[in-house]
Amino acid sequence: MAEHESLEFGKADFVLLDSVSLEEFMANLKLRFEKGRIYTYIGEVVVSVNPYRAMNIYGRDTIEQYKGRELYERPPHLFAIADAAYKAMKRRNKDTCIVISGESGAGKTEASKYIMQYIAAITNPGQRAEVERVKNMLLKSNCVLEAFGNAKTNRNDNSSRFGKYMDINFDFKGDPIGGHINNYLLEKSRVIFQQEGERSFHSFYQHTHTHTHTHTHTHTHTHTHTHTHTHTHTHTHTHTHTHTHTHTHTHTHTHTHTHTHTHTHTHTHTHGGNLTFGVDGDTTLIENSKVVAVIGVLLATKEENVEKALLYRTVATGRDVIDKQHTTQEASYGRDALAKAMYERMFCWIVGRINDVIEVKNYDAKVHGKNTVIGVLDIYGFEIFQNNSFEQFCINYCNEKLQQLFIQLVLRQEQEEYQREGIPWKHIDYFNNQIIVDLVELQHKGIFSVLDEACMNVGKVTDEVFLQGLNSKLAKHAHYTSRKLSPTDKSLEFDRDFRIRHYAGDVMYSVVGFIDKNKDTLFQDFKRLLYNSSNPVLKMMWPEGKLSITEVTKRPLTAATLFKNSMIALVENLACKEPYYVRCIKPNDVKSPLLFEHERCRHQVEYLGLLENVRVRRAGFANRQDYPRFLQRYKMISEFTWPNHDLPSDKEAVKRLVQGCGFEHDVAYGKTKVFVRTPRTLFCLEEQRDEMV
Ligand code: ADP
Ligand code: MG
Repeated sequence: MAEHESLEFGKADFVLLDSVSLEEFMANLKLRFEKGRIYTYIGEVVVSVNPYRAMNIYGRDTIEQYKGRELYERPPHLFAIADAAYKAMKRRNKDTCIVISGESGAGKTEASKYIMQYIAAITNPGQRAEVERVKNMLLKSNCVLEAFGNAKTNRNDNSSRFGKYMDINFDFKGDPIGGHINNYLLEKSRVIFQQEGERSFHSFYQHTHTHTHTHTHTHTHTHTHTHTHTHTHTHTHTHTHTHTHTHTHTHTHTHTHTHTHTHTHTHTHTHGGNLTFGVDGDTTLIENSKVVAVIGVLLATKEENVEKALLYRTVATGRDVIDKQHTTQEASYGRDALAKAMYERMFCWIVGRINDVIEVKNYDAKVHGKNTVIGVLDIYGFEIFQNNSFEQFCINYCNEKLQQLFIQLVLRQEQEEYQREGIPWKHIDYFNNQIIVDLVELQHKGIFSVLDEACMNVGKVTDEVFLQGLNSKLAKHAHYTSRKLSPTDKSLEFDRDFRIRHYAGDVMYSVVGFIDKNKDTLFQDFKRLLYNSSNPVLKMMWPEGKLSITEVTKRPLTAATLFKNSMIALVENLACKEPYYVRCIKPNDVKSPLLFEHERCRHQVEYLGLLENVRVRRAGFANRQDYPRFLQRYKMISEFTWPNHDLPSDKEAVKRLVQGCGFEHDVAYGKTKVFVRTPRTLFCLEEQRDEMV
């Protein structure tokens, strides 16, 4: 029993703290971590601290303990949240979602996997073959995505370099019948550049076989080569008889080249190595031209076409179309852009293939009733690095959006419940970060708009022009500043920096690279090259290569606009579901199971808004239970209710019981539930109960 545990292992729910202060919060978090209690509630939110060691708390026996139980009946656990989301979905026909947040290495992806495992374990009691097949595919899609989308970073050996939202669809019986994955902003620059101590995506070092048949089998063989010469090999057999074969060869150093090679039923073959450019007089050339022949074969296109695409750019000047030769710099830029774009498209293509296989099939809502959804969101957390660029800006904007959603939903949910139950509610204050969301995304005025405008500038398009735009548009904004606007501020060291006051803290961004990353240009020549490949999969991945240079009229949407649109869609999708939250905390930077770095944890507690969360929760009622449950738990402490009551309703019986204990002042009676304001009351009830049993 959650509250009971508190004596020895700290408070199982932060709302039970004697007073809500940062010190008490931290002391409780630390105590529980040290006692191996990695989960603690704030009401229905799970706070999780990464244990960095194998915990014996995810097995079949634990699953059985949580199955069908209420949150407060068992010690805090992810399984309880998963079960709550599942019950809401099944009993009340509600679409639900589980939002997992926290910084890199905090344990989000592991949590999402345990949640999926739990759901898989408690469903399909009838062992229907079709459902088992779907469950297997849903669980195993992870391993393919991790191979291509995860990498070793300095923070996390298995860091997800993309955001992931997965819907699981359930039929009227509550069994999984399919799913859908949305992926967000893959960190494709990793293909060509890694910080010291980091690696490219796992796929470059793995030898992976994935077979997805009618009966799903996944085999993963991993060979990690200790040399820089590495190797990927992936087979994806889907039941549609698509057969993918990806083969990646990388020599990781400053140079990268990419070969793609595909066969049908379908073989993709990516090969990376050295491709460098030099000059001879006025002519730019490829220094290691043998590589070009290999690329030609792998891309299923002519060698001379590859060479031309690498060295020239077709441009339309008025009515003329000319081939303009690249400088070595432009050629290198083009090569890198190609490598990044190909990897990104391949990743999206893999997600698309997985979706083809897992999508709900043969479900007739007219016959079977509405199919309901549980969504699981595992997306990058707030990032503050030494040097923050466009990627961090996008990621932090994403976290602002999610924080805004948290504010709206958690409060709205509370308010709605009080309203539904006919309980009066006083609004309590908290910092509303909508102002920062607007700062970033507002049409015409926001940072993304200023950036897009700068990118469209016909004249000089530089990062500095962008910064000037920001300074003139946002000079008065309370959450924006820069060196120019605050010349005396010592923390703004460089002219190229601007600073955003995020809900999670101040972050300095360097404008260097914003323009390039936002435009995300891949020369049309490459798109055409790939579209004209005789490999049908490559061709399919590059539909816009169909257009010749004179036909390309529309600018492609910028990276910022695409990301903004996908975030807005994500938030809209989450907002119409009943949310459950897992807030992950990383206890230290050295992956130690023993170390609780106070300052590091405090910072996370602060920016995740956990104290505000506790306050909001406490301003309302710490605990609510429906009348029959409440009675069942406490009926032994009152002569009026033990062993049975003869009052007209359970509600009346609960009133009588509460009166008998002298707690009326602390309790409100809703239509179906009793609300207990302070944890102390609950505590007393628990104590009295303990005396009786
Ligand atoms: P994130 O997705 O937040 O970046 P991960 O979920 O990948 O972080 O976790 C990073 C690492 O921390 C994992 O590879 C694992 O070693 C460890 N870890 C995280 N959660 C747990 C857990 N519940 N039990 C044991 N180890 C964990
Ligand atoms: Mg992750």
